[in-house]
Amino acid sequence: MNSNSKWFSQLASRWRLIWFSLPGVLLTLAIVIDAKAQPITPSDIKVRMQNRRTWSFPAAGVYFTSEFSGARLNGCEHLGGNEFKLVISPENIPINRSPWYAFKIWSDLPKTVTLRFTYTYGEPRTRPWLSHDGDQWKEIANADYAVESASRTAVVKLDVTPQPLWVAAQEMIGLKELSVWTDAKMRLKFARSSIIGRSIEGRPIRQLIFAETTIPNYVFIMGRQHPPEVTGSLGLMSFVDTITGNSRLARQFRREFQTVVVPLVNPDGVEHGHWRSNLGAVDLNRDWRPFAQPETRAVRDSFLSLGEQPGAQPFLLVDFHSTHTNIFYAQPDQLPIFPADFTRRWRAAIHERCPEIHFRRDDSHNVGSATSKAWGYEQFRVPAITYEYGYDTDRKLIRQASQVAAEEMMKLLLAELHSPQPGRRDRQSP
Ligand SMILES: [Zn+2]
Repeated sequence: MNSNSKWFSQLASRWRLIWFSLPGVLLTLAIVIDAKAQPITPSDIKVRMQNRRTWSFPAAGVYFTSEFSGARLNGCEHLGGNEFKLVISPENIPINRSPWYAFKIWSDLPKTVTLRFTYTYGEPRTRPWLSHDGDQWKEIANADYAVESASRTAVVKLDVTPQPLWVAAQEMIGLKELSVWTDAKMRLKFARSSIIGRSIEGRPIRQLIFAETTIPNYVFIMGRQHPPEVTGSLGLMSFVDTITGNSRLARQFRREFQTVVVPLVNPDGVEHGHWRSNLGAVDLNRDWRPFAQPETRAVRDSFLSLGEQPGAQPFLLVDFHSTHTNIFYAQPDQLPIFPADFTRRWRAAIHERCPEIHFRRDDSHNVGSATSKAWGYEQFRVPAITYEYGYDTDRKLIRQASQVAAEEMMKLLLAELHSPQPGRRDRQSP
């Protein structure tokens, strides 16, 4: 109501401007059309924006830049010789201590440099990842990395050349990579794609639905509420690749279930290299009750519009993240839930087939917080799981475990659907 009347008053004042100039008319129309979906003003931006720039040290012949999507570097200083101090800072404080940085470095002549990563908040968390092309990444060797705990400094040795070297807290799976993946998925003949909303800075929140049925049995999947959580994206992509694959199981699943995927909930955070927040300085996975941010509202509205249709039956919500370990945050066993005891059975089936990975299970994490997990359960009374991969979990193992997890999920849900006593809840009937 408030936002509507605010929008109309903005519109009215814009119409007054229109009388004054033709360029004004065109500009105003463009703004009004764009604002129609999501009125956004600069005052929605609550984080401290980083100053994207290039640092040149011609005497040392060494250069750094943060002028690219997903980059973050908050300061750079020559300490003498081949030693440099880099400043690592979050977008706002207090904030979850999951530092992100990403920059490129190059030099006039090949040389070895020492970089002192200095954290203004939090402390070194992961070894840097390196790439020569922004595409193929490798974690830095242990021998080239040391942490000085007392000064919260990481000391990194790098061989640099005139060819830029990418350095980031994790391999970069950013807007471009997720967009390439989403575009490819969109072209599958059983995919439907849409833009369900826009971020504060106007980036699209994209959704894909994979189904070869109109039966409204739903699995909801989302990822990247938290910008640095790259292993969550790796897990999500492999999970969805399996559901959209050509196996007999996947084809049968798509004939009985619709899988709804929002791969990138926080595109602004990923673009700006945030540690945690969107541009509203909000941890989106604490916004699932206030719904003060456009990104969470978009996902909520879309999932509700599907899951609350007459006859609709949601079965599961999975939200992919990264943390220090592999873990499922789920609901306590004593709560009424359908499918019953799903997370326990799912996890056991994954461990049985993929003993190389171990997922802890915690059903008492963040109880009472406004997370997607709490919202998914409260809304639909289904298992709503925060599915976390470790920052350091082997990447091949992540892909393999996600494939197994998707297969076992499909088997369990198909069995549930065909069980003689499916135990559906009242909200299922018309
Ligand atoms: Zn997270």
